[in-house]
Amino acid sequence: MDRVFAPWRIEWIRREEKNPDVEECVFCELPDWERDREHLLVARSQHSFVLLNNAPYNPGHVMVIPYTHTGDYRNLTDDQLLDHARLKQRTFDALEAALRPDGFNAGLNLGDGAGGSIGDHLHTHIVPRWEGDTNFMPVLSDTRVIVEALEETYDHLHEAFAEQPGATLEGPDQAVELTFDSGSESESNSDAE
Ligand SMILES: [Zn+2]
Repeated sequence: MDRVFAPWRIEWIRREEKNPDVEECVFCELPDWERDREHLLVARSQHSFVLLNNAPYNPGHVMVIPYTHTGDYRNLTDDQLLDHARLKQRTFDALEAALRPDGFNAGLNLGDGAGGSIGDHLHTHIVPRWEGDTNFMPVLSDTRVIVEALEETYDHLHEAFAEQPGATLEGPDQAVELTFDSGSESESNSDAE
């Protein structure tokens, strides 16, 4: 697994070199840098954002992350929980529209023993799955190829988010901004989560 996750670590080092003032937590810093496309930040809501994983298990592997810096899910307020859940629903919609997967794995790695790489700032992984798929990282072990694949996936997902209700776009290099109705959303698939 170390080899598989190497590009992710290399990318962090490069980011820190570019910005010497970076604090320890990249999930707190990335949304503030306002270079969303470069950082693979594809969608934002009021309390959360969607980031493509630099070392995807499968194409379309994203993380849905609250802006709040906490590693404990129980610390999120009701507003943050609802927003995070709504953004997960929208992420399933966008991935289905963009990539037509047969299903998803979705979940959190919480605590030091859970095997997550950034334990201090919780993030829900969403991994699209296809019938008979295998981990695509060993196939795409060339970092340059992975970067190109990520940019292509970003474009497809960005387009899918931009077509959703309540979506606004300030520019092609900015994440899609999503606002949710205060009532229940009827357009989401009821069997997605
Ligand atoms: Zn953080």
